[in-house]
Amino acid sequence: MPARFTVGLTGGIGSGKSLVASMFADRGASIVDTDQIAHSLTGARGAAMPDIIAEFGEQMADSHGAMDRAKMRELVFREPDAKRRLEAILHPMIRSATEAAAADATGSYVILAIPLLVESGSWKQRVSRVLVVDCPEEIQVARVIARNGLAEEQVRAIMAAQVPRQVRLAAADDVIDNGGRIEALTPQVDRLHDFYQQYL
Ligand code: ADP
Repeated sequence: MPARFTVGLTGGIGSGKSLVASMFADRGASIVDTDQIAHSLTGARGAAMPDIIAEFGEQMADSHGAMDRAKMRELVFREPDAKRRLEAILHPMIRSATEAAAADATGSYVILAIPLLVESGSWKQRVSRVLVVDCPEEIQVARVIARNGLAEEQVRAIMAAQVPRQVRLAAADDVIDNGGRIEALTPQVDRLHDFYQQYL
């Protein structure tokens, strides 16, 4: 990452990352979201699509030329090596698109939203601080069921592919407790925003 002060924002699914990111954006930080970048790379005319089609065949693209996510999910589930091949294409592209977006950002500092920051290792060295949004697992499950209408087992399967809460917390420089009401976020975000400004 460039010399720019950059906070890596992470947390388990449903912890409240998007909500917290929007609160930092309200205070003048620029948000760069690696999930959104991955999505656009694999969308219609996305920069990763030629390589994905070369690697996995035309049938991995839908009629618009976007990656067929359901098909890819199924392939990756059946063939663990396919996951490695997909990541070999995507990860370097995500990294350079993220660096470009961070360099172009006009906010007072950059919040890099990285759902799998702790899981994917190399991001940790690329950010100035790691900020974890934390809440109890039962609350994560309830929020994701309410947000996405998934079954409890589906949510738990996604969570099982993420690091356990204590491992994520151990990687944190800063923690936002989002186990309570939304209003409880405001003073925590304000305090951290003030703290981050001191680095600028
Ligand atoms: P993530 O980006 O980590 O998956 P979101 O920010 O999308 O999580 O939050 C998950 C869902 O829970 C959203 O629908 C959000 O509005 C809701 N939510 C987040 N924090 C709270 C909270 N403290 N109280 C109630 N609902 C919340």
